[in-house]
Amino acid sequence: MGLLSDVKITDSHVHIGSIKHFNFLDKYLKDYGIENINLVSLACKGHEAIAQNLICALYKLLYPDNVYAYGSLMYPYYPLDDKIPDEYNFVEQVEKLMAIGFDGIKMLEGKPTLRKKISVPLDSPIFDNYYSYLEEQKIHVIFHVADPETFWVKETAPSFALEKGWFYGNGTFPEKETIYKEIDGILNKFPNLRITFAHFYFLSNFPERAEEFLNRWKNVSLDVTPGREMYDNFSKRTEVWRDFFTKHQNRIVFGTDMEASMFQGGPSDIINTMRRFLETDDKFNNWGFEIKGLKLDQAVVEKIYSKNFESYAGSTPKRINTDVLLDECLRIKNLAESKKELNNYVSEVEEVINMLKEYI
Ligand SMILES: [Zn+2]
Repeated sequence: MGLLSDVKITDSHVHIGSIKHFNFLDKYLKDYGIENINLVSLACKGHEAIAQNLICALYKLLYPDNVYAYGSLMYPYYPLDDKIPDEYNFVEQVEKLMAIGFDGIKMLEGKPTLRKKISVPLDSPIFDNYYSYLEEQKIHVIFHVADPETFWVKETAPSFALEKGWFYGNGTFPEKETIYKEIDGILNKFPNLRITFAHFYFLSNFPERAEEFLNRWKNVSLDVTPGREMYDNFSKRTEVWRDFFTKHQNRIVFGTDMEASMFQGGPSDIINTMRRFLETDDKFNNWGFEIKGLKLDQAVVEKIYSKNFESYAGSTPKRINTDVLLDECLRIKNLAESKKELNNYVSEVEEVINMLKEYI
């Protein structure tokens, strides 16, 4: 198998569901040779994720040397109208997240389920000030946009997609192409945005289109976070993808989607499979198909594993400002207390506050 022995890996795409899962990540850092992780917040999911930014920031405080975190906008109520009420002041939200000590911004708003909930186009003018601010401040964004095309067709949608409510062919979800058009709309207005599109922008079946996309927008990149289907698609055109990965070696970023997507396999399964695919030319069966490794040059692999992410987020994580974080905790606690449907989350926020106080 022959994996590189001394290579620095930053997992740029990790989730944490709640404080109860902090132990899982402890072990993850130690056991899998991962030097740094980037926790990406899912606060944009709404009600059920009201404490996500706080939890990610707290974890960063626990592991200041090894943990980056990307904060997420909050939308306590759906759908949005085309006029933004004060509580959706996106620029102020980003300013606050950056003051807390986040290293970038995570967006899930392009996933069809969330795009449907938000119910305004991603390139709507209500986001203009927000994107403009991100562009001006050179703040890196990791953006989940669309999903595999198979999820729109009943016959091809995998069973886990059906189970999770990720079948989009019933006419109530935006089409994949509609969402892509909205991204072009954003990039037309703000071409200097530094965005990494998660899961290879779901173009692993379309190398020509991926090529065209990277050629058209010079400041975007792609992460190789599974979707397992990506590795099936890559393995069907190894030559093409080896050239692509080599040519665009500065624009491909490593991530695993640990822990939210454990349905895709445990950490050793995901990491070993990805590493074997990137580093070796092994042919092996896993995940229900044959994977053929790309055997990329070590210099290319090193960029994908950590250097490209560091070029966006810096070589060390930003520090948390505990005072600003505490303020934000209190604000979220008030919000949770003020609305009946958010009351469940008060205790979680209180738990964060208690842990945080040990650091103040
Ligand atoms: Zn993710």
